[in-house]
Amino acid sequence: MTKEQREEYYIHFEKLIDCMQDLNGFDHDGFRKALAKLCELFRVAKGVTEFYKSPFDENHGQGEVLCDYDNGHADVQVHQIRINSDTGAVIIGTVYMDRNEKPLTDEEREKVDLIFRTMLSFIARRRLQKAVEGFVFNDEVGYPNSRAYMRFLMKMKAKCGLHGYTCGCFNLRHFGNINREIGRQLGDVVFKSYYMLLAETVGDTGIVCRLGGDNFLLAFRNELSSAVLDVLRGVPVAYDKKGENRVEVSASAGLFTVPDGFLVESTETIMDRIMPTAQAARRDEADHILYFDEKMAKQKEHMIRVQRSFPAALKKREFRVYYQPKVDVFTGEMVGAEALCRWFHKGKLVSPGEFIPVLEQNTDICKLDFYMLDAVCRDIRRWMDEGKKPVRVSVNLSRKHLVDVDLLKHIMDVIEKHRVPHFYVEIELTETTTDVEFRDLRRVVNGLQAQGICTAVDDFGVGYSSLNLIREIPWNILKIDRCFLPEDEKNKYSTTSLMYKHVVAMAHDIGLECVTEGVETVEQVDILRKNHCDIAQGFYFDKPLPVEEFEQRLVNRRYELPK
Ligand code: C2E
Ligand code: MG
Ligand code: MG
Repeated sequence: MTKEQREEYYIHFEKLIDCMQDLNGFDHDGFRKALAKLCELFRVAKGVTEFYKSPFDENHGQGEVLCDYDNGHADVQVHQIRINSDTGAVIIGTVYMDRNEKPLTDEEREKVDLIFRTMLSFIARRRLQKAVEGFVFNDEVGYPNSRAYMRFLMKMKAKCGLHGYTCGCFNLRHFGNINREIGRQLGDVVFKSYYMLLAETVGDTGIVCRLGGDNFLLAFRNELSSAVLDVLRGVPVAYDKKGENRVEVSASAGLFTVPDGFLVESTETIMDRIMPTAQAARRDEADHILYFDEKMAKQKEHMIRVQRSFPAALKKREFRVYYQPKVDVFTGEMVGAEALCRWFHKGKLVSPGEFIPVLEQNTDICKLDFYMLDAVCRDIRRWMDEGKKPVRVSVNLSRKHLVDVDLLKHIMDVIEKHRVPHFYVEIELTETTTDVEFRDLRRVVNGLQAQGICTAVDDFGVGYSSLNLIREIPWNILKIDRCFLPEDEKNKYSTTSLMYKHVVAMAHDIGLECVTEGVETVEQVDILRKNHCDIAQGFYFDKPLPVEEFEQRLVNRRYELPK
């Protein structure tokens, strides 16, 4: 070899090695070019590399054969290298030449040998890496697993923030039935075909992975949504070669379309959205494909937060009683008050609308109501002891209490504990919806009456008001909800005005005391008077007040009335 040839050899060999060790991955193009130069330099017509996992695979021709250079004149084999790796794999490199070419000199043969040995060792390393990856990113059957899914999400997050992507989790519906119907073996065929169909549908830009059992994860470009949804909603899948025998396969899925500008903090951001949605989709009778709903999730989060912090909050007495006066609209005298709950949590005031409905999801509300009753009775006792004349205070009891057969005893125990005269306590209950509740309600109200405790129907007019409720249960007081109170008297014949008038009249005729809630303006005070509803509760007179402020009202007890 001449000096120039040797120099050329060094340059291209180095290039070849660089391409194989490129940190960004294997630079196949550069590798091919460098190899072609080297082959030309050594008059090589063709170079072939073979990789077999085992000698058995080699004997059966099951391996990978690569040929990165072939000038079409490969007549004679001039060199062969064979490596048996420690893992049992067989790697072979073969070099061919044109029969008319000058044979390789010893020096040239040495260099060709070195080039091919280097290539083979590189191939062996890459194959090993691939095999390890195979174990890590595939499950035992060969489906990509959840690690492959996470890797895909991370890659796409880095590339495009996952914008333009929909991610999801799905479960095959009734696959057990399919297995029973056609047998497990054919079931496997269907399973695989359905997977392949979805993998094809999401294409190179997406991924479908198996989470375990018949649960899968997927991600796809939004443009492919309708095609993917078609497959998820159900397609016939063949389980014989001719495609004559088919079964319908469908899935339930929870999906999340990453909104534009949304910051995906980590793969958990995605999983936290798709997993619960997939569970909901599985249970949902109407629609088996559900999209993650930010509002719904926030509500659920709020619910969990409230339920979790409730026990400690109760213990720490974070709940306080606020008192809203009830005023006689003819005399201006404060004749009663309603106890309303306020929650001081982490330095903030939480209003009942935010926590009462949550606590009503289970029996937590009953604990809170008894806490309130206890606090109210304690206050009444203290006022009496301090020489302040109390007014009758109403306490709200949730309908959840009605199933408690000892409810009456529990209420009386609290009142007796504080030695509060019964006429200072009033219980507000809302309307009921079922027959069973109705019976319980009647029992409880009767019991309270017998003890001389006033009872009020709260929020009359909202929900399923039934006249039966008033006829069959001996209430003392009807609290008309503020939605029944007209805003002004501009239209005396509006439905609201007429209904308000007749509801008040009816309440009086059957001997019920009448309270109107939500009285905010002078006009409304006037409406109450004209309709002979004596008692008002509302912002016109006072908002619900902290106990210290309410105690000041107990001293004066009289409100200025409009002329
Ligand atoms: P509710 O028993 O019908 O109480 C009346 C609600 O109307 C109170 O709301 C009160 O602040 C509000 N209100 C009074 N006057 C006016 C007015 O002029 N204008 C307007 N816009 N609103 C007025 P709050 O305190 O937010 O309580 C809401 C509901 O939460 C109560 O409705 C009651 O159902 C429930 N609640 C409150 N405390 C308790 C409790 O200790 N136990 C139970 N079970 N429920 C409670
Ligand atoms: Mg009430
Ligand atoms: Mg009410």
